[in-house]
Amino acid sequence: MSTIFGKIIRREIPATIVYEDDRALAFEDINPAAPFHVLVIPKQEIVNVGSLAEGDAALVGHLLRVCGKVAEEAGLSDFRVVTNSGEGAGQSVFHLHFHVLGGRALKWPPG
Ligand code: 5GP
Repeated sequence: MSTIFGKIIRREIPATIVYEDDRALAFEDINPAAPFHVLVIPKQEIVNVGSLAEGDAALVGHLLRVCGKVAEEAGLSDFRVVTNSGEGAGQSVFHLHFHVLGGRALKWPPG
């Protein structure tokens, strides 16, 4: 099932892309929850963490590495990586994504 993020991958709708490689794309969130708010997604259509298969492990490791890279490139030493899996957890776009948040103090636990 394609989502709005599929359209961003295919360049059918615009986004401010900050990183791209053969497996991953990172772009600014349209409704930022922090001064730095980037979404890191796989180009492959995967719904969420709950739908990951054993064979996706290397891809997910790569995506987390990309999260670290975009934060580092933004000069952030402290940042948060969050992923919502399922509607009840706050997922609104059903294409796996990691939120990378920073640039302000982040409270714990999140709502
Ligand atoms: P979720 O709620 O699924 O964890 O996160 C989805 C995120 O995608 C939200 O933070 C939302 O602001 C962002 N988002 C939704 N539609 C678009 C869009 O068209 N472009 C961009 N750049 N971000 C989007």
